[in-house]
Amino acid sequence: MQGKISVQTENIFPIIKKFLYSDHEIFLRELIANATDATQKLKAMNSLGEIQGELGDITIEILLDTDKKTLTVRDRGIGMTATEIEKYINQIAFSGAEEFVEKYKDKADAGIIGHFGLGFYSAFMVAKEVEIITKSYQDAPATHWKCDGSPEYTITEAEKDFRGTDIILHLADDSLEFAEEGRIQNILTKYCKFLPVEIKFNETVINNTKPAWTRKPADLKDEDYKAFYNELYPFGEEPLFHIHLNVDYPFNLTGILYFPKIRNNFEVQKNKIQLYSNQVFVTDSVEGIVPDFLTLLHGVLDSPDIPLNVSRSYLQSDGNVKKISGHITKKVADKLEEMFRTNREDFEKKWDDIRIFIQYGLLTDEKFYERAMKFMLLKNTEGKYFTLEEYKEKVTALQTDKEGKIIYLYAGNVTEQHSFIENANERGYDILELGGSLDSHFIQSIEMKLENVSFARIDSDTIDNLIKKDDATPSKLSDDEKKNLSDLFQSSLDKTSFSVQVESLSETDLPVIITRPEFFRRMKEMQASGGGGGMNFMGNFPEMMNLVVNGNHPLVNKLVQETDDTKRVATAKQLTDLALLSQGLLKGEELTKFIKRSVEFVG
Ligand code: ADP
Repeated sequence: MQGKISVQTENIFPIIKKFLYSDHEIFLRELIANATDATQKLKAMNSLGEIQGELGDITIEILLDTDKKTLTVRDRGIGMTATEIEKYINQIAFSGAEEFVEKYKDKADAGIIGHFGLGFYSAFMVAKEVEIITKSYQDAPATHWKCDGSPEYTITEAEKDFRGTDIILHLADDSLEFAEEGRIQNILTKYCKFLPVEIKFNETVINNTKPAWTRKPADLKDEDYKAFYNELYPFGEEPLFHIHLNVDYPFNLTGILYFPKIRNNFEVQKNKIQLYSNQVFVTDSVEGIVPDFLTLLHGVLDSPDIPLNVSRSYLQSDGNVKKISGHITKKVADKLEEMFRTNREDFEKKWDDIRIFIQYGLLTDEKFYERAMKFMLLKNTEGKYFTLEEYKEKVTALQTDKEGKIIYLYAGNVTEQHSFIENANERGYDILELGGSLDSHFIQSIEMKLENVSFARIDSDTIDNLIKKDDATPSKLSDDEKKNLSDLFQSSLDKTSFSVQVESLSETDLPVIITRPEFFRRMKEMQASGGGGGMNFMGNFPEMMNLVVNGNHPLVNKLVQETDDTKRVATAKQLTDLALLSQGLLKGEELTKFIKRSVEFVG
């Protein structure tokens, strides 16, 4: 018998072929997914008693004939009768394809098409002719369908004893890459590694039909989760912990998310989550499906409720997708909170590795922010951890300034800012360690939430200015003397970005200190690590620094009395260079000169 596939467009195949171009390999996923469905349906009917007796071998086989250039997908599922072929292949499926093409043909060039399932007809992306030889589980003769890519097809009776379907692809000349064993092996590994029915290629089963995420958490031990992680990322570093997701209402979602160790290089961590639909791999780029910060996690999500045949912008606005991502965020927050509550010691041990993740989350997701306030930790320079509440309690008494503001002091780099830290410690102040790539954003946002708290980096001013108390140290200098000093030091600097201030610090403070005002530095940092929308006016803001001269230091007092001008200039220069040196700012020729001078002095 002959027939004509019921579509209006005569040339639908060239269209299919053209704009599916970037993703040709998915034809195999589509055919194997169909074969899997047919097998699953058979199993289901069998267990319901609708199909009696033993099912026998139900393995799906992929057969490659490199000489004949044919690729066959063979299943032992429910098969189709001639009437069913008429209904499912000739009419329905194809009209679906046509609708799809209609809908997307204008957008094809814009590269919007990512992943989708065109089903059976995607075979024509790579085949010049496709045959179906199928025998239904029902008592009906086997059928042979054949189509060369034009809307005409033939359908005849076939010889086939065993139930199931062979889809035979005669590969097109421009698709002979799919006649290579290695290529097929790769596609199978990518898309079919966790399919629920055994798939054989070259007599070997290539898939794990019961991957960990499909099993009950109660049946799995820690080792099983680790082993599964290795299966997903064979060379990956061991993850910190995992979350097993299992929802069946109001949508279906299973999966296992792993927390990797995230230090500072978090861009490379992205795009590790794999998205599956009923154990068929769909994609490993999940932006738009889960909130951005969750893309730092690794693992697997499996949901038949995520629409796969659509563009990303559509995905982002899809109601189900929104619910799913909200749910995942909640589960992740639950897990972190539980870990914090049940084993704080262990949570603290993991903190340095998950901090960036949590900060990223709270900076980008309002809901997560609320949750994270409970387990967000601050670490001080002694390596102790505090919740926000605990920390406030710890420092309020000593670090409240005369205006009633509580000042949280922090260091960006414990080694570089050592002298500042020591100075603050002498006053009994506590110092946080906040030098990560998201810390300036974090500080900025948390400062707005916390009442009456402001953060100040330890080198942003002299310590007594950072936390101003009532008992300000009186100055030993007159205004004239201060002005003279200021001019003297200004001339010892060639950098115009410095502003010189003479202040009454304690006698035990250093004679000259360089500070970087908090605001400008923080804005600059935020801009450097990206994200600060609307902050571009900060453009090329000069590095702002202050040179603070301690008017109460004995050396400075001596300098005020000094009458020998050469000596005055030389001393000011040496003190300035020392201050620059302690901030790592003395470089090049200036540094060389400084060393020479110092050597002579020692001599
Ligand atoms: P979809 O799978 O999205 O429904 P397809 O074009 O892939 O669309 O397939 C259309 C229909 O053809 C399927 O729904 C199924 O009923 C039938 N079919 C396809 N492949 C097989 C197969 N290997 N065994 C049995 N039926 C099949």
